[in-house]
Amino acid sequence: MNAPITQDVLTLPRKLPDSGRTNIIGLTRDQLWDALIAAGTPEKQAKMRVGQVWQWVYHWGVRDFAQMSNLAKDYRALLAEKFEIALPEIVTRQVSADGTRKYLVRIAGGHEVETVYIPEEGRGTLCVSSQVGCTLTCSFCHTGTQKLVRNLTAGEIVGQLMLARDDLGEWPLPGAPKDETRLVSNIVLMGMGEPLYNFDAVRDAMRVCMDNEGLSLSRRRITLSTSGVVPEIARTAEEIGCQLAVSFHATTDEVRNVLVPINRRWNIATLLDALRDYPRLSNSERITFEYVMLAGVNDSDEDAHRLVDLIRGIPAKINLIPFNEWPGAPYKRSSNNRIHAFADIIYKAGYASPIRTPRGEDIMAACGQLKSATERGRKSRAEIAAEAG
Ligand code: SAH
Ligand code: SF4
Repeated sequence: MNAPITQDVLTLPRKLPDSGRTNIIGLTRDQLWDALIAAGTPEKQAKMRVGQVWQWVYHWGVRDFAQMSNLAKDYRALLAEKFEIALPEIVTRQVSADGTRKYLVRIAGGHEVETVYIPEEGRGTLCVSSQVGCTLTCSFCHTGTQKLVRNLTAGEIVGQLMLARDDLGEWPLPGAPKDETRLVSNIVLMGMGEPLYNFDAVRDAMRVCMDNEGLSLSRRRITLSTSGVVPEIARTAEEIGCQLAVSFHATTDEVRNVLVPINRRWNIATLLDALRDYPRLSNSERITFEYVMLAGVNDSDEDAHRLVDLIRGIPAKINLIPFNEWPGAPYKRSSNNRIHAFADIIYKAGYASPIRTPRGEDIMAACGQLKSATERGRKSRAEIAAEAG
């Protein structure tokens, strides 16, 4: 593709990692309450102070305690002494010809993750990372070639939304009506990492994002994608209640064992059992089955028929993802004709089967292509196969 690409290297001031102050970003309301009390806030005021600070930070996007004008001056000074409001840092921003923005984000320790903003008609989706790298080794996924470096903290997960809003200029101006159209209206946990292997941080971060007095994203606009960590699925329903997407990708255990090796631990039947309960437990409408289209591997008519047989009875949408190729990938994308024939079978069986349009291809921003530039410890396919075996 010869589309114009812009790339800025942003030099934002770096926060000192060891300021000794507690970062407010990512604390739940309860944690903030505890922290404010530990810092000397009288207990009977703490609830009100949590509400005030919360609104400044998450509704107005304020980063400086001095601007929190409804707090007494000496209380602002106390907060500034004990706390900071620190986001991860955008290192580079690439803007695709189609408007997709890919941010390379540096977190504490010098590690990097990617966050992608995808503008669409009337909405905008932010694809957020939950880990640096991934412990899993799905054979079609670029992130899977990178070892897990560490889990992100709740603050680093919420921080990705906040820095995208900074970059898009999305914080409300004083007096602006609350119902303005949002640039980031949806979050998908589909960046780097397996969110259900970083459950607590992801849960706390999503609770911060959903809080009505702050970032205020409805749980219906948050989609968590998992490769199938079965024991955490019911917890996701109960403790987060967001929409669920599952990286299904195959209709037999034999093929899924290779594409999504976690299938050796929890196979298709076990996964489907957990998914069957999800809509009721989470009070959500339907589950998204993600299905990456790999030429000659999982894209036959028989696969399509098997897929609809397997998921029968589960309220579902099947999202067909044309494989996003990356250098050295061992698969090819299915042809357009094949993808449409596959979609047709699913559609005729009564399921929505949208084909995902690859976005930001010119900047390698598409699903599964995310891989941080600094963590180059790429494993060979042979090493991955050996580990999966
Ligand atoms: N670990 C989670 C979320 C991150 S991956 C999961 O596996 O679900 C987000 C989505 O991108 C998953 O559906 C994944 O299967 C898909 N994906 C990964 N690599 C891809 C590629 N090269 N082309 C298309 N989709 C890919
Ligand atoms: Fe990890 Fe998801 Fe990639 Fe599999 S598809 S390696 S679980 S990020």
